Amino acid sequence: MKIAKNTVVTVEYKLSDAQNNLIEDGRQPMVYLHGGYENTLPKIEEELDGKDAGYATTIQIEPEDAFGDYDPNLLKVEERARLPEPLEIGMQFEGLPEGGEDDDAMIFTVTEIAEDKVVLDGNHPLAGMALRFELKVVDVRPATEEEIAHEHVHGAHGHHHDDEEGDEGEEGDHFRSHPIH
Ligand SMILES: [Zn+2]
Repeated sequence: MKIAKNTVVTVEYKLSDAQNNLIEDGRQPMVYLHGGYENTLPKIEEELDGKDAGYATTIQIEPEDAFGDYDPNLLKVEERARLPEPLEIGMQFEGLPEGGEDDDAMIFTVTEIAEDKVVLDGNHPLAGMALRFELKVVDVRPATEEEIAHEHVHGAHGHHHDDEEGDEGEEGDHFRSHPIH
């Protein structure tokens, strides 16, 4: 079947930067719900729309169509004591930008650790980069009603619900560990 709104698409991919340095070899294929649900980059959906399993292509996506330009204002320095231990560079937390409201919660990556301070970067790790995707569609299937209602894929490589969903962090808990795929 062809890729269209409300199909679940399995894509093997390899991600490089514009200089062809490998960023991700996509050992696990990407499985997403097609049709503007923001499960993947809009440029990828645009490229794959109407295609069949077996379709392969390479596309380059500029930063403005991927994860945006790098914004130095999204760096912040936090007291180390406010973050959980053990702490490692590359760990990611959900938090608020300087002066932000609850609705502005975003993902911060630990980029520097000092004795008592930590540098957190709110930019997406791929911000400011042109991305080159080698894509190969390996499967297309209709989405279930439940998947459409949830706006994401269930099952293998998809979204897993656990029983704790809904317990939003406690008062004063500004940094919750957040799984990133
Ligand atoms: Zn769901």
